[in-house]
Amino acid sequence: MKNPSQIKDDHYQLVQMVKQYVQYCQNIGLNNIPMPNPSDLFTYLHHPSFSSLEDLHNYLNRCQSCPLANNRMKAVPGEGNLTPVLVFIGQSPDREESLQGKPFLGEAGQLFTKIISSIHLTRKDVYLTYAIKCCLSKNEDPNQPITQTCRPLLFQELRFLNPKLICTLGPLATQILLENKTPFEELRGKIFSIEIGDCPIKVIPTYSPEYLLQNSQGKNLTWLDIQLIRKEYDQVIS
Ligand code: SF4
Repeated sequence: MKNPSQIKDDHYQLVQMVKQYVQYCQNIGLNNIPMPNPSDLFTYLHHPSFSSLEDLHNYLNRCQSCPLANNRMKAVPGEGNLTPVLVFIGQSPDREESLQGKPFLGEAGQLFTKIISSIHLTRKDVYLTYAIKCCLSKNEDPNQPITQTCRPLLFQELRFLNPKLICTLGPLATQILLENKTPFEELRGKIFSIEIGDCPIKVIPTYSPEYLLQNSQGKNLTWLDIQLIRKEYDQVIS
């Protein structure tokens, strides 16, 4: 049984933790502060807040905040245009990407390049990143703690980039960004809005290139989605 002094210490620590959490959410630009389970407070507090995108990228290979750090080859930072209108967010790097520490490689990466070239964009025009920065083992479904642990890193990254438009590739990237568990088929091709800092950002989910390599019937719908993305992109730059 704890004595009154120990209980007072526990209360003090809890208050300090909540204060740090609120400060952390403000630093990374979350206007609506999500109320986590008490255990999740520790998760949010695992990451520092960063002074620059480079600072965040350098941190990724030191991050030990979730079990994916144990089998990691390299965490994969985003790359591309550092003042982008449009950011693409994939689910997580595969083994090859994790070996090289580079995003969107291999057959799926090539298909992605072809998809954006169909709307007259190159990889240098946009920024590419992942919702989960380390490689998942084959067929592993990331559980809630992993997605929740990496999500604040994604939000800090987006805050530095300040894009106007985001395309999420596949269900998990969409669910992590929007915190929306509606079936993906009902989300893709629609426009959502989020705020990071004080900036509204439009989000359009579509299929991932990995999915399209296995399910070519999704290519027609992806074509519609990518046209919508180009239309929104043109409105921003006009
Ligand atoms: S997946 Fe994200 S939270 Fe987990 S170790 Fe890698 S960078 Fe850290």
